[in-house]
Amino acid sequence: ERVAHQQQAAALTAEVARQEEGNRRLSSALEDAGVAASRLEAERRDLQVELTAANAKAEAAAAEAAQLRRSAAAEAARLEREVGLLQKQKGKLERDAAELAAQVKAARAETAAEVAKAHAEREAMAGRLSRLREQEAELATSTAKLLFAEEAMERELTCMSCLNVFDDPVTLIPCGHVYCRGCDEAYTPHCQECDDAPERTVPNSRLETLGGKVIFIKKAVAALKAMAEGSA
Ligand SMILES: [Zn+2]
Ligand SMILES: [Zn+2]
Repeated sequence: ERVAHQQQAAALTAEVARQEEGNRRLSSALEDAGVAASRLEAERRDLQVELTAANAKAEAAAAEAAQLRRSAAAEAARLEREVGLLQKQKGKLERDAAELAAQVKAARAETAAEVAKAHAEREAMAGRLSRLREQEAELATSTAKLLFAEEAMERELTCMSCLNVFDDPVTLIPCGHVYCRGCDEAYTPHCQECDDAPERTVPNSRLETLGGKVIFIKKAVAALKAMAEGSA
């Protein structure tokens, strides 16, 4: 019985020792677990901090994105307005350009018409000038002829004493020569042209009239000549 007790005691002691060994291992494991837990806790806190920072960054990024979207929308609206304005300006410019082109075309047509008109006027003027020159030449010719005729007439109606156109002419009878009544020294007592002694004198009203006419013609021809020379 005592042996049995001793064996029992030894078995218990061994059991206790095993349990103690197990307790030590458990305690060691617990300690390890505590260390691991506190390390995990520290990591969790770090992660929490990181998460918070990441969240803040994400919020900031979202806010920035929203801001960007708003400013992009505002920019798009502004650009749309500008495009609208530019389209209006473009339309106006196109209308202005078309109007200007029409004006240029009209001005060109007007210029061409004026050039044609000026050309026609110049030709008409040239025609008129050449007709005028012909008329001038005719006038000069007629004037020369008239002058010649007038000089011939004047010679016929010139008193051989005073060499002027007869003034109150008288015809000597019987020789028939004619002098001015006042040029009596040419026919008293003898006619200076034929040396005859005139019996009497008679007034020559026909030559008197012609003399007046030739003086008038002489003045008219002189005026005509001056005119022809002035316009030449
Ligand atoms: Zn005379
Ligand atoms: Zn005579």
